[in-house]
Formats: sequence, structure tokens, C-alpha cells
Amino acid sequence: MQIFQDKQSLIQALQEIKAAGKSIGFVPTMGALHDGHIALVRSALQITDQVVVSIFVNPTQFNTASDLDKYPRTLQADIALLQKEGDVFVFAPPVSEIYPEEDFFAPFDLEGIDLVMEGKFRPGHFQGVVHVVRNLFQIVQPQKAFFGLKDFQQVAVIRLMTKKLALPIEIVACAIERAPTGLALSSRNLRLSETQKEDALILFQTLELLKKLKKEFSPAVSQEKAIEFFKKGKLELEYLELVSSETLEALDQTWSESSTCCIAAFCGEVRLIDTAQL
Ligand code: AMP
Repeated sequence: MQIFQDKQSLIQALQEIKAAGKSIGFVPTMGALHDGHIALVRSALQITDQVVVSIFVNPTQFNTASDLDKYPRTLQADIALLQKEGDVFVFAPPVSEIYPEEDFFAPFDLEGIDLVMEGKFRPGHFQGVVHVVRNLFQIVQPQKAFFGLKDFQQVAVIRLMTKKLALPIEIVACAIERAPTGLALSSRNLRLSETQKEDALILFQTLELLKKLKKEFSPAVSQEKAIEFFKKGKLELEYLELVSSETLEALDQTWSESSTCCIAAFCGEVRLIDTAQL
């Protein structure tokens, strides 16, 4: 394993890999790694020759200073976890390496998919995501980049950005890793007490309920019943949306060929998201 903090030394090491005809797989993360991240790393190790994992808590995608401050940072433990996975390159840069002064980035037209759900409740979030991923892609220039479907809307945004910039990068979407209880793994779970982890199961339970509701009811009625069920739990709901998996348009009377539910809610002070294809 090699650890890089400055982009020039990473670029140089990657040039040698590319010159040897090897493919690069890239897994961008914000650290506080768990088995969800490790599943992405393993997928990358299976189908690319050299895997790069970035660990960078991106300030531009947080829309409140306290959320950024409280985001868990566990670099030494992250490195120890990655060491077990094999010969990966870890890129853990300071902010100045990712956002140099001569960084030209104008708000990117994401055709509205950045304005619904997460985008609606976290204004500017996806512009920050697109900015950091574009800059990271420029440095790493991978053939394949791996993202988790836990952040379903993020995958759609990154796919659109990659298409619009005509980048020769395949976006590989990986399944959600869950605890045996059903709780989706998340770095933010580190901030939950044991009781809160139990309270948070309402997210998964609601998604499971929706799979049943879909068989009997329209999206509008299913949404109403699912919200009613969710509100019996202890979390504070931000949104529960049923959307077309392709266009992210809200569903009303008819299900789309592939439909997805996305939920965001607060468990105490911790904001959690979960999603499932129905
Ligand atoms: P983050 O560090 O939260 O920015 O996540 C980095 C990557 O890991 C993103 O592509 C996430 O979607 C993915 N990821 C986070 N949690 C999970 C999970 N439970 N299962 C699968 N992928 C995940």
C-alpha cells in the first residue's frame, strides 16, 4: 500500500502504472471507512489493476458548518482497514491540493436532478459533489470509478456529469451494504447511540413495507401509507419520495418500470439517508 498526500506524486506513480498498460479503478470516499466502502474497494480490486482510494472530507458539499465539523475523521483506522485489502494507493490530500487557487469551476447544469430530494434539502450539495469529483477525476484519470447506491441520487448526478463532460470513465454502481439488522452502513452511524441505531431501523422497515405496498397501491397512496408508518417511529422525517429510477421524476398514479424510494430523516442530530429499488 502507498499513501499520497500531494497530487503530483500520485499522478507520477499512476503514470508508471498506465505506462505498463494497467487499468486504474477509483473509489472516492470521505473516510471513516466501513464495510460499505470496503465492498466498493473489493469490487474495484476485482476488475481493475490498480485501485486508488481517496479519503477527503469535501467542504464544498456540506451546507452547514456544524455538519462538516462533526463529520467523523479516522484516518489511521482507515489506513489500517485498507492495508488488509491489498496493494491500494490511498490519496489523503489537504484541501489546497483539491481546490488550488486556479481552479475554474462554474455551476454545472445538472438538468434539475440536483434540485430534488437531497438537492432540495441540501442546497448546493450536488454542485459541491460534482466539483470535487471532477477535480479528483482530473488527478486520477481512472478507467472505472466506483460509487455506492446508498447515495442513489449521487450516482445519477455523477453519471450525468461524466456524460456531459464526455469523460472516458465508466461509473460502476455498487449495492448497499447493511448491518444484519438492516441498518445501512454509514460513517454517520458512528455518531449514533445503540438506542438510536435501533430507532434508525425504521428507515429499512419502511423500505421493506413499501415493497409490499407497491403490489397493491399506486405510488401516491403507497407514499402516504409509508409516511404514516414512518412517523410512528422516533426519527424526524425530512422527505420520503418515490421516483423513477431513470429520470428521478416523482411518481404519482403509476409506477415506472424501475421505481426507487429515497428517504432522509434525522435521528437526533444525525441526518441519515436510505434508499431501495422497489
Ligand atoms: P462517503 O464516504 O460517505 O462519501 O461514501 C463514499 C462512497 O461509499 C460513496 O460512493 C457511497 O455511496 C459509498 N457507500 C457509503 N455507504 C455505503 C454502503 N452502506 N453500501 C455501499 N456503498 C456505500
